Amino acid sequence: MLQKQTTQRPVSFSGTGIHSGEQASLIIKPSSEGRVFFRRMDLGGLEVQVDARKIDALNCSCLVFESGRIQTLEHLLAVLYVLGLDSVELELQGEEIPILDGSAAPLAESILQAGLRPVPRRAKAVRILQSHTIEEKGASLSFFPDPDFRVSYAIDFSHPLIGRQEMSVSLTRKLFLEEIAPARTFGFLKDAAELRKRGLALGGSLDNAVVLDEKKVISGSLRFQDEFVRHKVLDLIGDLALFGHPLFGHFRAERAGHRLHHQAVLFLLDHPDFWAYEEEASPRFLQE
Ligand SMILES: [Zn+2]
Repeated sequence: MLQKQTTQRPVSFSGTGIHSGEQASLIIKPSSEGRVFFRRMDLGGLEVQVDARKIDALNCSCLVFESGRIQTLEHLLAVLYVLGLDSVELELQGEEIPILDGSAAPLAESILQAGLRPVPRRAKAVRILQSHTIEEKGASLSFFPDPDFRVSYAIDFSHPLIGRQEMSVSLTRKLFLEEIAPARTFGFLKDAAELRKRGLALGGSLDNAVVLDEKKVISGSLRFQDEFVRHKVLDLIGDLALFGHPLFGHFRAERAGHRLHHQAVLFLLDHPDFWAYEEEASPRFLQE
């Protein structure tokens, strides 16, 4: 039987929000409630449930509620999902998860240092039973039945350093920690002014993103030659986490982004005939 888990002790982070540009701090606190929820400490401790139907997904995955929003959930949710942390209280001071170094590695490392422990609540994995494809303007997201949790991604940028990159992985915790979590978010210098005009990327810098000019990376060296597609895999895992259950299935994205990832989650929530609860088994990434 798959049990829900929490952390052994609180884990704290603070830093800039990549979009808001404002300082924020986050404390991941142990909880035995069997759910993942935020408390906005700057809004009097207001409780905000993580809910796929309240997500606005364009340049990031953003949780919208009556009196505010919480931006850039995806890297945090990816880490919680892969580590099997599904019973935590997220105390947030500010309206965005700190971007840290642009990757999910610092989050994953600190949580693992704190340690995990089971809570007496049952978690249920979900198995995809039928395939489906969502397409939009040359981009697509498909899912298929699979004996494990597999993620495939292809990107195609007309930039000499990126071009076409592909990755397909059957996820394990080790693979996530070594090959995916360290991949940083990326952006193009030519888009910065336009994004900032729209109130986005205000906290983006050479220290928390891979930044490219027309020809090269201007923010130091890459962590992987294909860091770009690896980061897209991270974002996809973080967005799929909004479904709320560990998945057995193959998710394949082609030139997609948060919006399409999110549409797949909504499709699954609206079509329970495409999946079934798994009574005993759990995907491989939760078995270590
Ligand atoms: Zn990202």
